[in-house]
Amino acid sequence: MSDKPFEYDRKRAMKHEDFENCIVCGRGMMHSGMPIFYRVTIETMGIDSHAVMRAHGLELQFGGGPLAARIANAMGPNEDLGLPIGDAHKTLLCHDCATGQGTARRSADVMYVFGLAAERAAKANPEKADG
Ligand SMILES: [Zn+2]
Repeated sequence: MSDKPFEYDRKRAMKHEDFENCIVCGRGMMHSGMPIFYRVTIETMGIDSHAVMRAHGLELQFGGGPLAARIANAMGPNEDLGLPIGDAHKTLLCHDCATGQGTARRSADVMYVFGLAAERAAKANPEKADG
């Protein structure tokens, strides 16, 4: 049995230069003393409507419904239905803002964080925000 409290993946670890302030409150990740924070990855995805129609057509050929969908997935080409648009953007959220505890004036809701992350990504990559 390991004497470490938990195992972690060093490939996903962060160096000092990877840190940024909390996207909600703008403070550091340890400002409240809680040694937990969250790294959130936000990706914009688009539906490939033609692939969805092909998948749905195959499902109908197998009679429709959840079982037909599973059969169609196994028998069909299993196409990509959701496609990434642009780059993934990672941002950090302190424990207080993520949980609404401690000194946070407000807890983060998903759409609020999404809007802030999109603004930060647009500032970091101004040429990509135009399209
Ligand atoms: Zn915060």
